[in-house]
Amino acid sequence: MHALGLEHSYARELPAACVDCPPEPAPAPRLLFLNADLAHELGWSLENLGGADAAAVWCGNRLPADARPVAQAYAGHQFGGYSPQLGDGRALLLGERLDRYGRRRDIAFKGSGRTPFSRGGDGKAAVGPMLREVLIGEAMHALGIPTTRALAVVATGATVWRDTALPGAVLTRVAASHLRVGTLQYFATRGDFDTLRLLVDFAIARHDPQLREAPDRVYALLRAVVQRQASLVAQWMNVGFIHGVMNTDNMTLSGETIDYGPCAFMETYDPGTVYSSIDHQGRYAYANQPAAALWNLARLAEALLPLVADASDETSVREAVEQATRALDEFHPIYAAERLRGQRRRLGLLSDAPSEDADDAALAADWLALMQAQAVDHTLGWRLLADAAVGRSQPLLAHFREPRDALAWIERWQARCARDDATRGTSPAARSASMRQASPRIIARNHLVELALVAATEHGDLQPFERLLEALRHPWDDSDEYAPYAQPAAPEQAAGYRTYCGT
Ligand code: AMP
Ligand code: MG
Repeated sequence: MHALGLEHSYARELPAACVDCPPEPAPAPRLLFLNADLAHELGWSLENLGGADAAAVWCGNRLPADARPVAQAYAGHQFGGYSPQLGDGRALLLGERLDRYGRRRDIAFKGSGRTPFSRGGDGKAAVGPMLREVLIGEAMHALGIPTTRALAVVATGATVWRDTALPGAVLTRVAASHLRVGTLQYFATRGDFDTLRLLVDFAIARHDPQLREAPDRVYALLRAVVQRQASLVAQWMNVGFIHGVMNTDNMTLSGETIDYGPCAFMETYDPGTVYSSIDHQGRYAYANQPAAALWNLARLAEALLPLVADASDETSVREAVEQATRALDEFHPIYAAERLRGQRRRLGLLSDAPSEDADDAALAADWLALMQAQAVDHTLGWRLLADAAVGRSQPLLAHFREPRDALAWIERWQARCARDDATRGTSPAARSASMRQASPRIIARNHLVELALVAATEHGDLQPFERLLEALRHPWDDSDEYAPYAQPAAPEQAAGYRTYCGT
């Protein structure tokens, strides 16, 4: 197929960090999803994407003329234990594309067959989990949260064996880059410091070009990643997103959410929530995510140490550790500030009022505690506050078993809002409108995602998937057509909900 304007800076500059590898042919490809919006961002028309041949192109049967598929090497701490060799076991980077805005984006397959990094795996992916990645990624994107996105999903016509026989699929993923904490770990633990240094240069050129001439480039990169991840995880927390597998191979340097496996949005507010079937200890429970992110960043700092410390010189090692520690210490203030910024927007506090930060944080924390105590839906609990801002508290109170406790909190909140109005000239109507842009009405609810995937995989019916996708692309929209997507699961649907690894 024709060339797509793909470039190969990674394969060219980091030959030691990837291996050439062709995709496996698909027996009977069928296009399930093509992301017109993302294609446009990438400067492609649907015709560019293959037109009638799109299914053959986006499963790897007819690669773009300028694709150069490579599998990338990486390591990673998985649930705390170190695996020195993971790598793209079922993924291939086809190349990079400069998008309309001049951003370099990776175009990569997932589920395209075995690679030298496949270990015992089959290199494949199933239709259900790949459509799930589409839904959650597009939901995150619509919510304004940095994320990789899906460009296409093709059913391969092959059978994938998991617990049962499943239809196979290839997903095309678009990412700011696929550099992971685990990418640097791979070379640090092998003692290949030359490639490690090249990777740092590559990461800086790609994500932090302003740091190119910085005297302490390595720490500067560490600080930039700390900043991006602290901000990202705060956004996850504010929207109730649970990643589920925050291993260091699933944490990007770009600050994009990556690898939608057993992830989910929380329904009833409970900080202990774990959905992932493989997270037996709750390591990546909702409330543990900031700590897990910081733990991963400490592993990144360790991986970078060989570039800044001379292992035979104790003073140099001590100084390097101190510098790295200072960088890691920036995580919590950045996280807390971003978390509070989001909460203040959700509370409808429009003004900057640093002197009220502590009170506002307590106000938000008390709201969360109330929702937890009364098992309120996290999304609706916040969303319906926008109505309460203009005196319509009943729809919100209907979600509380003990409305009196909620009423007391609402009065306290309204007093705080009135102070904002008096001193800053804001108004309840403006507040309510802005709150509707801060607290989504529609998230990817687990029961709806499951219904859409069952219809697609078991009945070949893509309509529920397409309709849900459309709703997820309008998270702030109050119109009636999306009302069914705003409803929490019935208790029996929500009970014991588990998500399975995206394999
Ligand atoms: P994940 O849990 O999806 O982040 O994957 C962890 C590691 O397992 C990565 O190195 C993946 O490439 C690899 N992996 C996951 N599924 C498969 C599969 N079906 N075949 C080969 N490798 C896989
Ligand atoms: Mg992964």
